[in-house]
Amino acid sequence: MILDNFTLKGKTAVVTGCNTGLGQGLACALAEAGADIFGVYRSNAGNTPSLVEEKGVKFFGYKADLSDIASIPQIVHTALDVFSRIDILVNNAGSIIREDSLSFSEKDWDDVMNLNAKSVFFLSQSCAVEFAKQGSGKIINIASMLSFQGGIRVPSYTASKSAVRGLTMSLSNEWAHLGINVNAIAPGYMETSNTAALRGDKERNEAILERIPAGRWGRPEDLSGAVVFLASKASDYVNGITLPVDGGWLGR
Ligand code: NAD
Repeated sequence: MILDNFTLKGKTAVVTGCNTGLGQGLACALAEAGADIFGVYRSNAGNTPSLVEEKGVKFFGYKADLSDIASIPQIVHTALDVFSRIDILVNNAGSIIREDSLSFSEKDWDDVMNLNAKSVFFLSQSCAVEFAKQGSGKIINIASMLSFQGGIRVPSYTASKSAVRGLTMSLSNEWAHLGINVNAIAPGYMETSNTAALRGDKERNEAILERIPAGRWGRPEDLSGAVVFLASKASDYVNGITLPVDGGWLGR
């Protein structure tokens, strides 16, 4: 039965930035499909533990600052300790800094690149070592419209999300033969704290809304189908794609 290929029963998913926004939605979707969640958060897990547990699966929260890759070995070690194995990694944690490129600082460059690109590579690498041993694993990176486009006043974000798309293809080329699927989801313009400033700017908000064929901002739950698909057996022969979930933004 085809729907059986979508179940994540008995699987464990590591989800970074699980406490809010898209990460919370992604964790809930994977939980609803049956996966236990090892949720990584920066300061507190918010209400994600109860939202996940009410789906009948386990949640384990782990506090880490992913802007420093020294935190990564312990994340993987603890997840293996708690759940014995990892099947799915969702690299969701990310940040954005808006500033004119003429005055953009080195710190603003490094802070975004370290979290959005460097930690994605090194956490993927650490999980892939385990995935290679078990002969299977799913890595899902959270990319962006700015993996395809330039954006305005967000040079480090655009560079980092273009890197995420490139890495998705590069790692997929190296790891597909090990049974590891590396893919990405590129959310469109979504209602989270990441876009609060944009939505608060009347002019930009109207311009963005007018350009989205679906006529509305996306919501975390709009990513549910894509993440469950890419985390499940149903996508075993899907490698290296960055799947836009954008209400039609890119096609316009
Ligand atoms: P958000 O600001 O609500 O969430 C960001 C998450 O990253 C939070 O959970 C936060 O705790 C975590 N985080 C930030 N710094 C961290 C650090 N140093 N260490 C560990 N975790 C850290 O924003 P969101 O919109 O939910 O963003 C989630 C992902 O989706 C990001 O990668 C973002 O770039 C991407 N994205 C968002 C949109 C959008 O429109 N909201 C569109 C495309 C892509």
